[in-house]
Amino acid sequence: MKKRAFITGITGQDGSYLAEFLLKMGYEVYGMVRRTSTLNFERIRHIQDQVTLIPGDMLDQTSLTNALREIHPQEVYNLAAQSFVQTSWVQPVFTGDVTALGVTRLLDAIRTIDPEIRFYQASSSEMFGKVQEVPQRETTPFYPRSPYGVAKVYGHWITVNYRESYNLHATSGILFNHESSRRGYEFVTRKVTHTAAKIKLGLAKELRIGNLDSQRDWGFAGDYVEAMWLMLQQDKPDDYVVATGVTHSVEKLLNVAFSTLDLDWKQYTVQDERFMRPAEVDLLVGDPTKAGQQLGWEPKVSFEQLIQMMVESDLQLLKAEHNL
Ligand code: NDP
Ligand code: GDP
Repeated sequence: MKKRAFITGITGQDGSYLAEFLLKMGYEVYGMVRRTSTLNFERIRHIQDQVTLIPGDMLDQTSLTNALREIHPQEVYNLAAQSFVQTSWVQPVFTGDVTALGVTRLLDAIRTIDPEIRFYQASSSEMFGKVQEVPQRETTPFYPRSPYGVAKVYGHWITVNYRESYNLHATSGILFNHESSRRGYEFVTRKVTHTAAKIKLGLAKELRIGNLDSQRDWGFAGDYVEAMWLMLQQDKPDDYVVATGVTHSVEKLLNVAFSTLDLDWKQYTVQDERFMRPAEVDLLVGDPTKAGQQLGWEPKVSFEQLIQMMVESDLQLLKAEHNL
């Protein structure tokens, strides 16, 4: 019998990589999609005939309960979220409803339908915010700096609480930033690689950007979804930091992306107040020792390789779009 996995957020960056990975591992893959007036299956188009899509929404308890009753999965990966930090200041209540309360809705559906289901919660390094320790590990206290970060702290603790209250196999993966050519265009890595490629092709003149000094521990999304799966294969549920252990500034990101295209970033970059945040997370760097020792997980793609890969992919994408 094939194992069945249910992924919320399958149309997102991580959902698409996780679905690919689970298919390769021989799973039957089910993904939840919310109703939209136009389809947004771009990231899963290449595997759409191999996965089963179930309509539903993190805001709607009935759809979550019915999905579990219909699928009877052994594993549930909760990747759905309003995931963009900047938007969380504009839509703080919505972000809390989807990204925080949505986790309770799904956990409660699991508790009611089948408490044997193994559950993965997509927690975030944004929970560390104004960091209390460097590098950040599983025991580092949280100090979130955005409505998104606050919502993720709730999601983390409700996962721990359902594990302890109802003995669920519920795990919180605290993942540091991870990127790819499928990353949303609003995140800084993709914004930089896509705009740099546009500038190279003469399709844009400048890049408008916010804080150049903040530092992130950037890894490759394809590596990180393997850690999610490994967590659910453990006998006991737990919490794990997943990171590369190396941090870089936004300025370094600009440097690597533009120099990949033989361009000088300083000539094309304009700082713009619009992209500054009301409260910033200055430095994130994770300590993935526990994931290494207990899961046998380690990142394969370096920061430089990741950014070069994204630049190259955006260049090809733009050439195809513009017949260049
Ligand atoms: P994306 O923003 O690319 O994907 C988010 C997914 O959630 C999309 O499929 C989206 O659907 C879905 N979604 C949003 N709101 C709802 C809703 N109300 N009901 C159902 N589905 C919804 O995020 P990533 O793939 O990058 O991240 C996956 C998860 O990991 C998120 O929870 C994110 O917060 C978390 N995370 C990500 C990190 C990263 O660096 N990428 C780091 C740490 C944590 P639609 O396509 O319809 O919008
Ligand atoms: P986050 O870590 O989840 O907030 O991921 P982002 O990619 O959105 O942002 C990473 C860092 O880049 C944050 O410290 C931002 O303030 C900084 N940054 C600087 N300029 C920009 C920009 O133009 N867009 C975005 N998204 N982030 C920017």
